[in-house]
Amino acid sequence: MLWLALGPFRAMENQVLVIRIKIPNSGAVDWTVHSGPQLLFRDVLDVIGQVLPEATTTAFEYEDEDGDRITVRSDEEMKAMLSYYYSTVMEQQVNGQLIEPLQIFPRACKPPGERNIHGLKVNTRAGPSQHTSPAISDSLPSNSLKKSSAELKKILATGQINEQDIRYRDTLGHGNGGTVYKAYHVPSGKILAVKVILLDITLELQKQIMSELEILYKCDSSYIIGFYGAFFVENRISICTEFMDGGSLDVYRKIPEHVLGRIAVAVVKGLTYLWSLKILHRDVKPSNMLVNTRGQVKLCDFGVSTQLVNSIAKTYVGTNAYMAPERISGEQYGIHSDVWSLGISFMELALGRFPYPQIQKNQGSLMPLQLLQCIVDEHAKTAKRKAST
Ligand code: ATP
Ligand code: MG
Repeated sequence: MLWLALGPFRAMENQVLVIRIKIPNSGAVDWTVHSGPQLLFRDVLDVIGQVLPEATTTAFEYEDEDGDRITVRSDEEMKAMLSYYYSTVMEQQVNGQLIEPLQIFPRACKPPGERNIHGLKVNTRAGPSQHTSPAISDSLPSNSLKKSSAELKKILATGQINEQDIRYRDTLGHGNGGTVYKAYHVPSGKILAVKVILLDITLELQKQIMSELEILYKCDSSYIIGFYGAFFVENRISICTEFMDGGSLDVYRKIPEHVLGRIAVAVVKGLTYLWSLKILHRDVKPSNMLVNTRGQVKLCDFGVSTQLVNSIAKTYVGTNAYMAPERISGEQYGIHSDVWSLGISFMELALGRFPYPQIQKNQGSLMPLQLLQCIVDEHAKTAKRKAST
C-alpha cells in the first residue's frame, strides 16, 4: 500500500534524471537533472524555452506505455509523469534493461530550424527548485534497444501470442480455476501475467471461448486490466494480461479510508465501463482488483465469455462468498448483483475481515452452499424488517 500512497519517488530521489527534449524534425537535446523528483513544471518550460527560443511553448507531452501522448501543463501533471517514468525505470532495472531517458515533446512550437549545432552546453538558472542543475548535453543517438511502446502494443494486441514466445517466471497465485504466472514475452520484452486454466472441453467449445474473448481486445479503459491474447494448448487455456506489480487487494488487509476512497472511485469507473459494454463482471472481489506502483487500480477476471465461465464452473464446484443473495438462490441477476459484491468487497477492505463473521474464508472464496445461506437469510430478514416499518 505504501507504493500507492508515495509512488516510486522515494526510491528514485537520488537518481540522476535525463530528460530528452524532442525537437520537431531535428532530433533531440538531452538535459541532465540531478534532483528529478523536485523538478517543477516551470523549470522544464524554461529549458524548453532555451532549446526552442523562437517558439512559445506552454505545455509538453510524454508517451505512456501504450504510445498515447499525455499533456503536461502543471506541477500536478508533472508529478504524474515523473511517477510514471520512475516506475518504468524500476521495471527496466529489474529486467536488466538499458535505462531510457524521459522523452518529452514540446507542444505547439514553431519548427526550430537547425539547432544546437555547436554541441550546446547550457547551465540554466537554478530555478525555483534549487536542487535542479539542468545542464544540456549533446543529444544521444535516438535509436533505442527497446521497442517503442506503440510497437509493443501492436505486437501484443494482434492475438498472435503463443506458448513458444513465453518464458514463465514466478507463480503469482492460485485461484479456484487456475494458476497465474509472471511471464516474459520474448518478442516484445514485456512482462505479462498469464492465467492458465485446465479445461477438458471439446474443440468446438474452445473455438467458442476464443471468439467470446475477442471483445477483450476492444476494452480500452485505464480501470480494466489490459488484454494481450489467449491461446489453447491441449487441455489448458492461457490468458495473457497486463502484469500489475502491486498484486491484488486481498493481501493488503485493512486499508485506510482515504486510500480506499480513491480505490473505490477506480473500481466503480471500471465497472461502469464494463456495464456500458453490456458486460457484467460476475466476480467482483478483492482478489480481482489489482494495483500497480503507478498508483493504478484495475479490474480483472470479468465474465466476458459465458462459455469459459460455464466450463470453469463445471470443473470447480462451489459458490462465491461475495455473490449476491439472488445469485446464491439461483435467481436472475444483473448489475445490482455486481454492486452487492462491490459492497461486500469494500466492507472487507475497510474492516480488514470478511463482513459476515459466520463465514470463514480460509480456502479462497469458494464455499459450500449451506455456509452461504446466512447471506440469503440476512438479506431476507432485513427485507422483512423494512417491509414491516
Ligand atoms: P478466483 O480463481 O476465484 O478468481 P483469485 O482471483 O484469487 O480467485 P486468480 O484469478 O487465479 O485467483 O489469481 C491468483 C492471484 O494471482 C491473485 O490473487 C493475484 O494476486 C494474482 N494475479 C492475478 N492476475 C494478476 C495480474 N494481472 N498481475 C499481477 N498479479 C495477478
Ligand atoms: Mg482472479
